Amino acid sequence: MNRRDWMKTLGAACLVGARHGVPLHGAPLQGEDAPSATTSSTALETEIVRLQLRHTWTTTMSSSAYRDTLYVRFTRDGITGHGEGAPIVRYQENAAGARQAAESVRDLVTAADPWEFEKLHAEIAHCLSGQYAAQTALDIALMDWVGQKLGIPLYRYFGLDPNDAPITTFSIGIDTPAITRQKVREAESFPVLKIKVGLDTDEATIAAVRSVTRKPLRVDANEGWKNKEEAVRKINWLATQGVEFVEQPMPAQMLEETRWVHERVHLPLIADEACQHAGDVPKLVGIFDGVNVKLDKAGGILEAFEMIQIARALGLRTMLGCMVSSSVSVTAAAHLSPLVDYADLDGNLLIANDPFSGVSVKNGKLLLPHGPGLGLRPAEKIS
Ligand code: MG
Repeated sequence: MNRRDWMKTLGAACLVGARHGVPLHGAPLQGEDAPSATTSSTALETEIVRLQLRHTWTTTMSSSAYRDTLYVRFTRDGITGHGEGAPIVRYQENAAGARQAAESVRDLVTAADPWEFEKLHAEIAHCLSGQYAAQTALDIALMDWVGQKLGIPLYRYFGLDPNDAPITTFSIGIDTPAITRQKVREAESFPVLKIKVGLDTDEATIAAVRSVTRKPLRVDANEGWKNKEEAVRKINWLATQGVEFVEQPMPAQMLEETRWVHERVHLPLIADEACQHAGDVPKLVGIFDGVNVKLDKAGGILEAFEMIQIARALGLRTMLGCMVSSSVSVTAAAHLSPLVDYADLDGNLLIANDPFSGVSVKNGKLLLPHGPGLGLRPAEKIS
């Protein structure tokens, strides 16, 4: 089939989903909790799971005590792949919309050959434009299924050595100095911390951290500094505070201002919000020194893998990050972590009700599970 015929077929596939009455944006589904439609041996189930945060989580973007995340289960031939996608408010996503989006491609996904996951990934991305959490949950579930079916962990599928997995930072959200000090003490076993800044409390936050520990810090401004002179002043001050690099100092669209900042500071700058997809990476050369890749903003494991490879080819440093998520999504990212220079894969450590266990952390080092696929196990119940 040539590309034109394929795209025509693809349009029809998206319409099949739409005919089943599942709008991508709009009112919640009717009978939302009804059992999933099933082909002879293939099933797709979706669910919204509420993750309770250990601490209220505050960045320049938002503040919350819980996060709703999309879970997807893809079952075929008696094997179930698990997937998760965290809706990102910055991209106008929410859990209900993400679930509707995943449901809208049910016919496409259950009718497809999961071994042709590369093509299926492209078809899903085409049908679910702008719905990254749904894309991510489906992609992770399919890749978990593929790994389980092959009987190998995903890191092995990608040809990676799990011993190369880096240490992960533990993130400290924006808070009062007293609570910041408490969080830093709780994170004692992590050799490097990531500190959220970007408000007018930045100096007080760093001072609170430094009153408790001398360990290296990585700082994330989450686009918080709107003025290039302010960004230069703060970054050069952070360089005196044992900071290794600064993530996304200015708003993503202010690339020329960020280039101006980059020429005047001595700390590496890492792009996060400015780098969502593989196609974003080349334009960042000369403005940033590296990119923070996240499955949830990219649309899954395959797109994240491509982003990392492009960044490496362009001489950029690479980092894997995550949203507040359970072990499903964080473990999926961790399977790619032997490829990257830095990891910030602590989303599962920030929540109190993780339904699974997968990747674990010992003295900051990521320990990948060796079971097939993601290698997930149900979390042990604490009575
Ligand atoms: Mg960030």
